[in-house]
Amino acid sequence: MKPAPFEFFAPSTVAEAIELLETHGFDAKLLAGGQSLIPTMNFRLAQPGVIIDLNRVEGLSYIREENDNIVIGAMIRQYELEKNELIKEKLPLLHETMPNIAHPQIRNRGTIGGSLVHADPAAELPSVMCALDAVFHMTGPEGERKVAANDFYMGMFAVDLEAEEILTAISIPAMNPKSGHAFLEIARRHGDYALAGVAVIVDQDKKGICTNARIVYLSVGDAPVTAENAADVLQGNKVDEALIAKAAKTAAEEDIEPESDIHASAEYRQHLTEVLTRRALETAFSRAR
Ligand SMILES: Cc1cc2nc3c(=O)[nH]c(=O)nc-3n(C[C@H](O)[C@H](O)[C@H](O)COP(=O)(O)OP(=O)(O)OC[C@H]3O[C@@H](n4cnc5c(N)ncnc54)[C@H](O)[C@@H]3O)c2cc1C
Repeated sequence: MKPAPFEFFAPSTVAEAIELLETHGFDAKLLAGGQSLIPTMNFRLAQPGVIIDLNRVEGLSYIREENDNIVIGAMIRQYELEKNELIKEKLPLLHETMPNIAHPQIRNRGTIGGSLVHADPAAELPSVMCALDAVFHMTGPEGERKVAANDFYMGMFAVDLEAEEILTAISIPAMNPKSGHAFLEIARRHGDYALAGVAVIVDQDKKGICTNARIVYLSVGDAPVTAENAADVLQGNKVDEALIAKAAKTAAEEDIEPESDIHASAEYRQHLTEVLTRRALETAFSRAR
């Protein structure tokens, strides 16, 4: 299939891109890596009249440390996140996640910003950003606005972003080196979207008491799902096999309400969630401290 006809603009600054968004409104779409937008246009699921290409816009491709945060420009390609030493050292959860996203050819073009805004409920990056307490920086006609990743995702493919706004950067607090982390998912074939997945960050004190637990799922709801009940089971208690098993069961039974679809039944997703949570927590606690 070929896309429906469209007008093409290639601005060189964020200000120009915003002006184009203001002029063309809902008829316009921003193009980043094109790995989600172009297939939907080729299938004519999306038929924007105007494409605004972000690939030549200055100042959107960088990874740098600012105070205790790692700040990532929205046009950073997914493979750059995978290979970057600063990410590996300061955000090991993100580093570990990257090879799970699609295939190398797709990560070579796909951007962090495109994935976060596209907001596929089965995508890895939105859930990992929620686990990491990332903050998204958006720029629009009124200037810059910041939104926590945990507030950005509002439902199926629905995000807190106005039609005239551009996601310009993502800032993420560097992980505590004493925290433990793990990312696990199950997909039918490597590179496919996951049937279920989980990102975990935990802390424990010298006595083995869990002092903090963040557990966020993908592909088991309309948007990233944070397991609050399972975290309550862990926090303040001595970590052992039985506690981890109890937390994993709580997550599957109380924190998620997955739907059945052509890929997996709701019951199977619940089963996967329990198994993945148990394994991810075991790994994360073994890495903590
Ligand atoms: C075969 C295949 C398998 C895949 N498997 C996976 C997978 O397992 N996991 C996964 O997470 N993804 C997967 N993807 C999707 C891939 O990760 C995409 O790269 C990503 O979803 C979109 O990033 P992009 O840069 O290509 O964005 P684009 O496709 O260019 O844009 C996506 C959407 O975001 C908007 N947008 C882009 N950048 C911005 C911005 N800075 N500000 C505001 N809006 C913006 C666009 O207007 C568009 O609506 C797969 C894709 C393919 C083709």
